[in-house]
Amino acid sequence: RSEHAKAAPPSTTMTYEDVGGLRSQVQRIREMIELPLRHPQVFERLGIDAPKGILLHGPPGCGKTLIARIIAQESHANFFSVSGPEIVHKFYGESEAHLRKIFEEAARKGPSIIFMDEIDAIAPRRDKVVGDVEKRIVAQLLALMDGLTRRQNLIVIAATNLPNAIDPALRRPGRFDRELAIPIPDRVGRREILEIHSRGMPLNEDVALAQLAEITHGFVGADLEALCREAAMSTLRRLLPDIGVSLAEMPIDRLTGVTVDMEDFVTALREVEPSAIRELFVEV
Ligand code: ATP
Repeated sequence: RSEHAKAAPPSTTMTYEDVGGLRSQVQRIREMIELPLRHPQVFERLGIDAPKGILLHGPPGCGKTLIARIIAQESHANFFSVSGPEIVHKFYGESEAHLRKIFEEAARKGPSIIFMDEIDAIAPRRDKVVGDVEKRIVAQLLALMDGLTRRQNLIVIAATNLPNAIDPALRRPGRFDRELAIPIPDRVGRREILEIHSRGMPLNEDVALAQLAEITHGFVGADLEALCREAAMSTLRRLLPDIGVSLAEMPIDRLTGVTVDMEDFVTALREVEPSAIRELFVEV
């Protein structure tokens, strides 16, 4: 069986072990979400309300969605995912009704987490010039958040790359009143992320993940995942002429003993650009 089959565990089996770096963020989010969802009586006993909404912010590809999915699994909660742009465009004309439906279902099936990605798309600051549609959607979202009761056992996690671009009304008490920055990983975080995404690969012993972490400043989790994938693809390309078969008929047993080498990571580094740099070019 291919070593690669183990590389990416199916999303249903992900755990906190699949998050590189972000130790203190995961810790805080567990207190804010997992604890009240799993043990609502603890919060009741202490006389405090569980949070209704949490805002995760930070650059793309650093793990906001990843953390939200894992926290739902670990909290034994149902996970409802909504994307801001989708609500505005795909459900145009029915956006508010769609939101209401999601909240109703999530509340009925609690414990639940609703994950709203790119919330800035539905809730831009109302003092900015925005259409009536967005204004109505924000008003609906606020009403739904205000209507949540403790009994419903439902927490909304919103994510954005642009925390200052969202309507401040969303951040008032009882709404998205907890915030957590999910930053670009540092060297130690990069090393952990590289370990996570290469742990199913047959790595040659010359692969120095610490060294790779050192030279990948500015790479986010998604970039490092791409780097590992590209390294394995480089291995494959390196082998193809030897094996002398086409990709389509590649027999798995021919991969026995094959390793992904440091050389493959170096090749991959030439292919994978950190997102931060890509964005620079887009903005110029
Ligand atoms: P976006 O703003 O684009 O939605 P995001 O912050 O939600 O970005 P994710 O979708 O969570 O980013 O990250 C994309 C993928 O990159 C993840 O599925 C995961 O494989 C990998 N990844 C990102 N951050 C990490 C991390 N800290 N540890 C391990 N893998 C990570």
